[in-house]
Amino acid sequence: MYAKVIVDIARSEADKIFEYSCPDTLKAGSRVKVPFGGRIIEGFVIDVSPLSSYENVKPVAEILDEEPALTQECFSLMESIARRYRVPKAVVLRLFIPSEMRRGRVHAAYRNFAVYTGADITLPASAKKQAEALTYLKEHGEGDYAALCDSFGRGAVNALKEKGALEIERRKQTRSPFTGLPSAVGEKTLTPAQERAIGEIYSSDKSTHLLHGVTGSGKTEIYLNVIAREIRAGRTAVFLVPEISLTPQMLSQLRGRFGNLAAILHSGLSAGERFDEWCRLRSGEAKIAVGARSAVFAPLENIGAIIVDEEHDASYVSESAPRYSTIEIAQMRAEYNGAKLILGSATPSIESYVKAVEGETGLITLTERINKKPLPEIIIADMRKEVKRGNNTAFSSALREELAETLAGGNQAIIFLNRRGYSRTVLCRDCGYVAKCEHCDVALTYHSEENCLKCHYCGTKYRMLTACPECGGKHVLYNGTGTQRVVADLKQLFPSARILRMDNDTVSGKDGHYSILKKFSEKQADILVGTQMIAKGHDFPAVTLVGILDADMSLHFSDYRSGERTFQLITQVAGRSGRAGEAGRVVLQTCSPENYILRYAVAYDYKGFFENEIALRKATGFPPYSVICRVMVTGEDGERTLETLKKVYFAIEKLRGETPGEFIFLNKMHSPIKKIQGKLRYQVLMRLASRNALGRVYDVAVENTNKNVLVYVEENPVNLS
Ligand code: ADP
Ligand code: ZN
Repeated sequence: MYAKVIVDIARSEADKIFEYSCPDTLKAGSRVKVPFGGRIIEGFVIDVSPLSSYENVKPVAEILDEEPALTQECFSLMESIARRYRVPKAVVLRLFIPSEMRRGRVHAAYRNFAVYTGADITLPASAKKQAEALTYLKEHGEGDYAALCDSFGRGAVNALKEKGALEIERRKQTRSPFTGLPSAVGEKTLTPAQERAIGEIYSSDKSTHLLHGVTGSGKTEIYLNVIAREIRAGRTAVFLVPEISLTPQMLSQLRGRFGNLAAILHSGLSAGERFDEWCRLRSGEAKIAVGARSAVFAPLENIGAIIVDEEHDASYVSESAPRYSTIEIAQMRAEYNGAKLILGSATPSIESYVKAVEGETGLITLTERINKKPLPEIIIADMRKEVKRGNNTAFSSALREELAETLAGGNQAIIFLNRRGYSRTVLCRDCGYVAKCEHCDVALTYHSEENCLKCHYCGTKYRMLTACPECGGKHVLYNGTGTQRVVADLKQLFPSARILRMDNDTVSGKDGHYSILKKFSEKQADILVGTQMIAKGHDFPAVTLVGILDADMSLHFSDYRSGERTFQLITQVAGRSGRAGEAGRVVLQTCSPENYILRYAVAYDYKGFFENEIALRKATGFPPYSVICRVMVTGEDGERTLETLKKVYFAIEKLRGETPGEFIFLNKMHSPIKKIQGKLRYQVLMRLASRNALGRVYDVAVENTNKNVLVYVEENPVNLS
């Protein structure tokens, strides 16, 4: 037989199918070792056939998997993904297996068990330990070999083995994560709104549905019901959530409902745990894959449903090659399997909502919280007035009063700081004026090394302002306040309050954020201060107040999505307040209280926000009415990097010459961050009228990447730093 093999090399020169002779037992989907260019390397068998197109092919050196690691679906997706993102096929195939499995860095774990044989043996009176061990085995039938040796001595256990009283059995072990989790309650009776939603998903002929439901409207319960339904029908399911929402609470809910049928793929697991969870899915023992972005590649067959919770979340776009969109991959898999795809959010991305409104996908709306609990009231605190009154702290008087009341009532509060990147904006604290680009209508970013303002979308430079052009005020450069400073202020204002802080500095290791969240949910603290990390998914019943310190930070971020991100953040953060018992409140501090984004957020008016935003995008020609495309050119050697940049730019200019209608804007420049880890960063930035020219731009990147300089494409990048 002959095996068609894709070698595990991430270079385009090796991106071909090679043939090797192999034993009849080799199956497509298995990994093998093969001779290649004088070395032995790993490869993926994509097909096995009795015929070869070549003579004198070399034999496969070693078979790594007895049962194939990859399925036919992987090969189908491999073709589509490689074509879509212009990456070598091997790079795509790597996504389907745990990274540690490559180069044999992880294996199944085995343990030895001592099993009582029932043989009747007599022991001398002096062999006390042997007698004790024998009694134990007679009582229990078997025991863990190492544990028995610890208790009775290795000599005694081995002597019993010699005498035939026990046999050693080697058994495969599953390293199961989160086994200690308490199991949560079972199924709930669905509300009529939930029934309707599920009915619509299954009666509609559309495969993708956007589930737009306010926070606390019972979306999770809908997901769990859909999963249960698929399992009953003999199919499998994928449940994707942002990494940050993989909380013990949520995992225990899944384990409680589905037991061992649910497998968790999570970057916080050990390599062994992740490998074992993957094996349980691959073998069919587990039927539900739960995890962040990369779990979209879970080794399941016969998928009935794929759920993407918080579908608007930026973490669903991969930041390393291939820079895939999880929703796109989910669509490919749903299509291959004939599965239902459910995208859920309280604040869908503009892109997903447009598709739903235009009928490309189904749209299901849940407008009420379970039990008709009201959404928390949002109070706007105008920080310009606070400054005028001489209050230069991070806390408005409204927020201070609300905090005092919350603490007096024995409830908890969350203080949220808006932090995205390290961008610094010119924002006047006296009147709310924001410096924007004349061409792009996005906020400018301050660059201290040149003491100037720059637009990240077109590269235009502006002189730094020393005073506000509107009101003459001097407080114009705005950095926001750090979490540490906020905690210090809080301690002064409320000396007896117990305060927890959660940000990148306090969260480290596998369980860093779990332990902080656990403390808070056990009411070991009164106030939780944190950044974006605390915005999502968590359910703290005793929280009745949320303070948003600087809503402006993301509103004026130099990003065309800043309005969208701000609306999402406020809605998500506000959703943490008043989930159980008492009604919740939110204090939103801002220097631009009349801003329309904030107005819609305060009224929980997603549709109003959407209609305004989409009109703005159309008028300014930002996505979805264009594609922002950045070709990054990075390398350590300045001359070579610049040379490659020129080649890339020249090739794209040529492309523009051929299809001028496709290019709205094109320029080459330094990236806002000029150097990262010793690598110089240049970029060719363009705005394309449609996706038509995108494939050609990808080709340019692939053609110009070389040993010294990496060239890659980003579509509508989440940040332009
Ligand atoms: P969402 O995911 O939309 O934010 P959840 O699914 O977390 O909402 O539901 C909010 C709360 O309502 C949770 O505490 C959940 O246990 C509860 N809940 C959801 N559905 C039901 C139901 N059918 N009956 C009773 N309680 C429910
Ligand atoms: Zn601009």
